[in-house]
Amino acid sequence: MEESKKKRNRYGGRAQGNQPSLDGSHDEPMPLPNPMVGFNLPGYLQPSVTRILPKQDTGPPFFYYENVAQAPKGVWATISRFLYDIQPEFVDSKHLCATARKRGYIHNLPIENRSPLLPVPPKTIFEAFPHYKKWWPSWDLRTQLNCLRTNIASAKLTERIGRALASSDSPPARSVQKYVMNECRKGNLVWIGKNKVAPLEPEEMEYLLGFPKDHTRGLGITERYKSLGNTFQVDTVAYHLSVLKVMFPNGVNVLSLFTGIGGGEVALHRLGIHMKAVVSVEIGKANKRIFRGWWDQTQTGTLIEIDDVKSLTDDRIVSFVSRFGGFDLVIGGSPCNNLAGCNRYNRDGLEGEQSALFYHYFRILNAVKSAMARM
Ligand code: SAH
Repeated sequence: MEESKKKRNRYGGRAQGNQPSLDGSHDEPMPLPNPMVGFNLPGYLQPSVTRILPKQDTGPPFFYYENVAQAPKGVWATISRFLYDIQPEFVDSKHLCATARKRGYIHNLPIENRSPLLPVPPKTIFEAFPHYKKWWPSWDLRTQLNCLRTNIASAKLTERIGRALASSDSPPARSVQKYVMNECRKGNLVWIGKNKVAPLEPEEMEYLLGFPKDHTRGLGITERYKSLGNTFQVDTVAYHLSVLKVMFPNGVNVLSLFTGIGGGEVALHRLGIHMKAVVSVEIGKANKRIFRGWWDQTQTGTLIEIDDVKSLTDDRIVSFVSRFGGFDLVIGGSPCNNLAGCNRYNRDGLEGEQSALFYHYFRILNAVKSAMARM
């Protein structure tokens, strides 16, 4: 089989989204593509994925659902089965920016004629942060950062690394290098002095994730790391959402579930897509504060805030649909707490207390679809 066909079968073949899954197929792990570049990415020679969605699955409303790519076995197959058997688009943001972020996206947006956000973000650590060159040892071969997490390395750990290096030769013995590199990779530590490493600052994370400077400023530092660790990588999401721009020249009405610090909205804004109205559902007080602050600074449309997806009843959905004349986009990534690999304690899959909120995404999307069908 020629290479392009092989690839298409590996991660495009079932990506058309119009093949019903066979009985029991959701028990199969969903293979993650390598390289993880989704259906297409700017600057990558693609296996040509085309997909034709059945009429009833195409927008409006357009929908966009996100979660961690490396979820326990069966999770993506189940999510996909609920979301009309549309196949996830798995993308590692390291192909677009200087930090890894492996995510799956299920959406019914067209996948042709996408365009990247400009300016294109730097793809390497030194392009993003040239000043780190000064103390970066030649044996630290990293060129990109790992996935940004919700918590950061402790001062104890960075001190221990400093001591290990101070008592070694220069360059340090292989075993010391190995220990240090392992910790640096795990914690995304950068070199800020001789034998001195530190975690990224929140504003560096904001930059890597495509947010405006100081987006999360004002929160406590722990909350900032948490919100940033959970958010969208804006350039990646914007690339997928870019197709909305020509479709909605007058702007969009958005139902934003699990809004967080507003990665989806920041992406739309940076694309120059006006948000006529956003109904935002987000339970975290700190996140709400950040999102509302950003909205007030940058937007002129209507913002309606709801705390909990559970309280967004079908009746309320019907009334929003009639008030706004329908939603153009239903966007959200439900919590990954019980899915992400770094959670060793209660990684109990989609039925975990937090992760099961996915079913509300599904319920709400269906309620929007049926209310819009009756318009
Ligand atoms: N996509 C978002 C982040 C999503 S993380 C961004 O761009 O920032 C998941 C979010 O769901 C978190 O912000 C969390 O506070 C929120 N959340 C958790 N339970 C919720 C609930 N019951 N209703 C609404 N939001 C909830």
